[in-house]
Amino acid sequence: MTQSRYWQFQQRPDAKITDDTFGFENRKLDELQEGQLLVRNLVISMDATNRLWLGEREELYMEPVKLGDSMKGFGLCQVVASKSRLYQEGQLISGLTEWADYSVLDALLVQPFSYPDNLGMAEAFGVLSIAGPTAYHGMLNIGQPKPGETVVVTAASGAVGMLAGQIAKLSGCRVVGTAGSAEKCRYLTDELGFDAAINYRDEDFSSQLAKACPVGIDVQFENVGGAILDHCLSLMNNGGRVVICGLISMYNSDQNVPGPYMFHNSIMKRLKIEGFVILDHAAQFPLMQRYLLEWMDAGLLKFRVNLHEGLECAPEALRSLYNSQNDGKVLIKLTDPES
Ligand code: NDP
Repeated sequence: MTQSRYWQFQQRPDAKITDDTFGFENRKLDELQEGQLLVRNLVISMDATNRLWLGEREELYMEPVKLGDSMKGFGLCQVVASKSRLYQEGQLISGLTEWADYSVLDALLVQPFSYPDNLGMAEAFGVLSIAGPTAYHGMLNIGQPKPGETVVVTAASGAVGMLAGQIAKLSGCRVVGTAGSAEKCRYLTDELGFDAAINYRDEDFSSQLAKACPVGIDVQFENVGGAILDHCLSLMNNGGRVVICGLISMYNSDQNVPGPYMFHNSIMKRLKIEGFVILDHAAQFPLMQRYLLEWMDAGLLKFRVNLHEGLECAPEALRSLYNSQNDGKVLIKLTDPES
């Protein structure tokens, strides 16, 4: 029987994740049943949405994590033993797994994962699994940016934001990012080619934003919500598109948050406002991944990863998304694949 360390969901957070939210435990895994895989978790993605799985909201796009269960996350895993004809021992797969050394997964709920030699395993997983498809689908299929238009991306130096902004640049747009520090703003303009970047913590944020968008906003790629979204809604042009990708400023609360206060502009500016859950578009991932890889190969798309070493780091790594400590895709690496 396989023994595995894991992070157990032990106490529902009132707001921010605390030291009591998770406990580091050991368990023996059950014997494999038909159709199941025993996997070694290699890399686990830390996603803003993980916090929502710990709440009590009824409206969620998937089953929340139950108290007492292992915490879940999207992961890159290697098959150790298989009771499915779909996967063999040694194969790499990705899908919803656990914050654990080993997990038992349903073979029907995972996908094979491969990556090119010129990308590291963690970086490839970071771009291709969730962040890249989210940025691609949200920006191109929903935002539909046209050359010469102005695009604003919030939480722009994060995993999804940095890719969404660069994809808008590839579409020929003027791209403005918002982020939480001068250093992150510098990264956006100096290294990723954003036309402007504004620190939302600055007192004169709204006037800086208006100055950076002198002819208004055509596409708003929203990752944050709250006051930042309202400032952007007030600058939208007629026929603008508002892509509701994420509302991270609200995830630490189970209460409904008032606003947006500038919703009025959805009529006055004839806006198209659309939210999405990227998991609904998994069938299109191969196409999106091909484009992402091509752009990366051509040096047109940059990406940075915050790699934490070891399963022990998981809670702290997740918290870094909420206290603005991350500057790129947050992943934890547990181990290398065995050949
Ligand atoms: P990021 O790498 O962007 O990290 C989150 C960032 O959000 C932080 O670095 C921080 O940056 C910013 N942030 C955190 N709290 C606040 C706050 N209260 N106000 C303003 N900014 C804040 O994470 P992801 O790329 O994983 O996720 C980005 C967004 O994309 C999230 O909203 C997430 O839910 C969404 N998403 C949506 C998907 C979908 O299917 N719709 C799929 C994947 C992600 P800073 O320093 O700038 O404050």
